[in-house]
Amino acid sequence: MSGCDQPGCGQPGLMPLAQARQQLLAQAECRAARERCSLSAATDRILASDIYAQVDVPPADNSAMDGYAVRLSDLAPNAETRLPVSQRIPAGAAPLPLAAASVARIFTGAEIPAGADAVVMQEQVRVEGGQVVIPADVRAQQNIRPRGQDLAVGTLVLAAGARLTPVALGVLASIGVAEVEVYKPLRVAILATGDELVEPGAPLAAGQIYNSNAYLIRGLLQSLGMQVVELGVIADTAQATESALRQAADTADLILTTGGVSVGEEDHVKAAIEKLGRIDLWKVNLKPGKPFAAGWVAEVPLYALPGNPGSALITFALLAQPCLLKAQGMTVSEPFSLPVRAAFSRARVQSRDEYLRASCSSDGYATPWGNQSSGMLSSLLNTNGLLRVPAGTVVEQGQVLEFFPLAMLLRP
Ligand code: AMP
Ligand code: MG
Repeated sequence: MSGCDQPGCGQPGLMPLAQARQQLLAQAECRAARERCSLSAATDRILASDIYAQVDVPPADNSAMDGYAVRLSDLAPNAETRLPVSQRIPAGAAPLPLAAASVARIFTGAEIPAGADAVVMQEQVRVEGGQVVIPADVRAQQNIRPRGQDLAVGTLVLAAGARLTPVALGVLASIGVAEVEVYKPLRVAILATGDELVEPGAPLAAGQIYNSNAYLIRGLLQSLGMQVVELGVIADTAQATESALRQAADTADLILTTGGVSVGEEDHVKAAIEKLGRIDLWKVNLKPGKPFAAGWVAEVPLYALPGNPGSALITFALLAQPCLLKAQGMTVSEPFSLPVRAAFSRARVQSRDEYLRASCSSDGYATPWGNQSSGMLSSLLNTNGLLRVPAGTVVEQGQVLEFFPLAMLLRP
């Protein structure tokens, strides 16, 4: 376990976020099995093998317009030309070669007849006495979508590790792929620790709160396409924590815990992990989310999120999620961020890198939510991203900071 003891990196002993992320990602590996799946059932799955185009898209030259297919050598160079219509080619028809000194009536998406080398829009012609008057200055290949312009045979269309978004599914369909090799959903165990936790639906007794983290984390995992193994609420004892972790390691590919990972007497998660496996990392230079830990229970990777719901969400998004996605077989990239301007100023500096729940408006200015308590989750309902304020920064109004749109952070 290593932390940052350099001046300027925040608090001694805390690992910088980027370093923590890099270390965890380097240790993470794909843990998902493969299966074949029809394209129609593959939405949001992770592709397990590269896909190359076996056909050209489009498969033949076709018309981009409703109009007339012409042969340039039939046209007068600088004057109108009158020609008869020798065939009609709607989309889906197989054309005949274009007869000499004629044009073909053609429609958008229809295949260009052999011999034709331009399409003239119907708005640019006149039909007079059964003949079509083609204007001067027709350019070669105009209004023709050439074979293979979208994808040529042999192109790597999607690499293993890509998510099968609706766009990806549409592109695969365009090259005729009906079935894909994908990774099976990982089984991820969730354990919420805390004697104070009660499930929604039950009345609250004195000292109790509802278990919101389990619902938050379950939803996040499900929206990533993972299967959740719900292990319920774990009491704040060493024995309950160890036995729940053992059960999790027996039934799941990965484990997520919330709470109990700080330094209080009621925090048993870290000691239990150390007893059943090992801790690789504990405490990150991050606000909120400092007590995040990662390690192993037997052979199963575990990410221990802090109990405060705001911290749980932020550490999930910045640290656990990339590792989970890599384990799921996905190619992981750095989270998307935008440079925005601070709509506020703040003299007080923090010793940790902060991720403020903030709203960025279309003018490019970001405003943090008034209360940044790590115990608050509802602030994330009313904001649209996280604004990074590096440790030691005095924020001046108008200063450029990094903004991570929440929708993209949680849907990489
Ligand atoms: P802990 O990390 O266990 O010390 O918890 C920190 C704070 O988060 C405490 O106020 C807990 O009550 C709260 N908390 C822990 N787990 C949950 C949970 N599953 N749902 C909502 N709040 C929680
Ligand atoms: Mg607790």
